[in-house]
Amino acid sequence: MTDVRQTIIIGSGPAGLTAAIYAARADLKPLVLEGEPSSTSDQPGGQLMLTTEVENYPGFPEGVMGPELMQMFRGQAQRFGAELETVKASRVDLSSRPFGVWVGDPEAVEPTYRSETLIISTGAQSLMLGLPNEAQLVGHGLSTCATCDGFFFRDVEIAVVGGGDSAIEEAMFLSKFASKVNLLVRRDELRASKIMQDRAAANDKINLVWNTQVVAYLGETKIEGLRVKDTVTGDERDMDVAGIFLAIGHRPNTSLFATQLELKDNGYLVTLPDSSYTAIPGVFACGDVQDDHYRQAITAAGSGCMAAIDAERWLEDQEA
Ligand code: NAP
Repeated sequence: MTDVRQTIIIGSGPAGLTAAIYAARADLKPLVLEGEPSSTSDQPGGQLMLTTEVENYPGFPEGVMGPELMQMFRGQAQRFGAELETVKASRVDLSSRPFGVWVGDPEAVEPTYRSETLIISTGAQSLMLGLPNEAQLVGHGLSTCATCDGFFFRDVEIAVVGGGDSAIEEAMFLSKFASKVNLLVRRDELRASKIMQDRAAANDKINLVWNTQVVAYLGETKIEGLRVKDTVTGDERDMDVAGIFLAIGHRPNTSLFATQLELKDNGYLVTLPDSSYTAIPGVFACGDVQDDHYRQAITAAGSGCMAAIDAERWLEDQEA
């Protein structure tokens, strides 16, 4: 017999675990499929598991380590009775209620679980360069979030990789701290909008480095420099920088839902304005999987709270 739940939460970053805290306190007995261990952000706890010091999460005046913060989220959800399983969902069926959720063999005839409501909080991943030692260096001079980590790079020279609006936005923000920001662009032109290009050009601290690709991170335990290649001549040289920020795009984790829920052009899940509702009644989405704009732990947590409240009220309406 398939286990039928009131609420299943897929994903366990700040959004999923906040949804779990609220759903548990509303007595929905949520089951969280928290993912499986990995060396990427696709793991229980999500992107903060790859961060060291988190200084912008309210309530921690001295800062807190990313994994420690997620451990606290987890403990708080469990304290109120959320059940966590260290597994990944392999398939969902949103065509009828209670929705089907598979763990393990996605071809199995019967789903592992059924649930009256589903909260999707599978997050997004920053695109990475795929160079050796990359996962180990995240949080040690390598970052994908200027808002989070810029403060640590006061008065030192750093690099930003990318040529889109995000790269320029990150470079502009980082120029408040760093002595010099080298924007490494792999072609001889930017993809960014004209207005952002103009802003970069007008900023004395931003140094545009054209036709340049990072080929290696220098330093074993922290970034001590970069090996870069001229994409036209093939010449390689070392750059002396104390930090590198990757801003080459994000990919939301939507593969389980892509054929069943509406996606924006950039692949993020569509939710109805000012809510966590998707187009399928009973299916809610929160956190970075539906947020291509703010992408912060605190905004993800806030939207996880919204999803749990939406699910609770939706269930109440069904019963009424
Ligand atoms: P994006 O527009 O897709 O740009 C990604 C950039 O990274 C491109 O310049 C790309 O180079 C470069 N890149 C990709 N892979 C790379 C690699 N392996 N090595 C080196 N460079 C690499 O992504 P985004 O900047 O994150 O922006 C996403 C969307 O959000 C866009 O629609 C953007 O306009 C929007 N956005 C808007 C604002 C704003 O208006 N303030 C701020 C942020 C984002 P190529 O150009 O050579 O492909």
